[in-house]
Amino acid sequence: MKRKILISACLIGENVKYDGGNNALHVTILEQWKQEGLLVPLCPEVLGGLSVPRFPCEVVVGENRVVNTIGTDVTDAFVKGAKESLRIAKEEGICMAILKARSPSCGKDIIYDGTFTSTRVNDSGMTCKLLQRSGIAVFSEEELEDAQHFWSK
Ligand code: SF4
Repeated sequence: MKRKILISACLIGENVKYDGGNNALHVTILEQWKQEGLLVPLCPEVLGGLSVPRFPCEVVVGENRVVNTIGTDVTDAFVKGAKESLRIAKEEGICMAILKARSPSCGKDIIYDGTFTSTRVNDSGMTCKLLQRSGIAVFSEEELEDAQHFWSK
């Protein structure tokens, strides 16, 4: 099976962000991978059943649950989105993922702490953690050089 790369859909311009927008990143390597048909875009929060737009969400660090800005517990949707992302990753033969930094689903190593005060903590989003636990190498869009190096090995 041809190796493919999972990518946060918002990074390639899909309007799946909580505010209905995207985080499109216009860089050569992503364009190249896209043209080569290597990218598998997905949004874990949409896969989990959340709407676009939606209230911003944060992981409540230390409690392993996710809430939105009006206090609704959305953990189940995040867990579902993470599991669905992993299912697709396995189906597509994914060994590497490029995920949006600091998202409660996609963030790697640094996310916000659940207080909606822009306070960062050393932790990862739910989908990022599940993919990593399953042996998939995850890089954020701020680590594209490392991702390129990994991919070319
Ligand atoms: S869950 Fe991931 S793919 Fe979806 S909007 Fe947030 S960062 Fe982008």
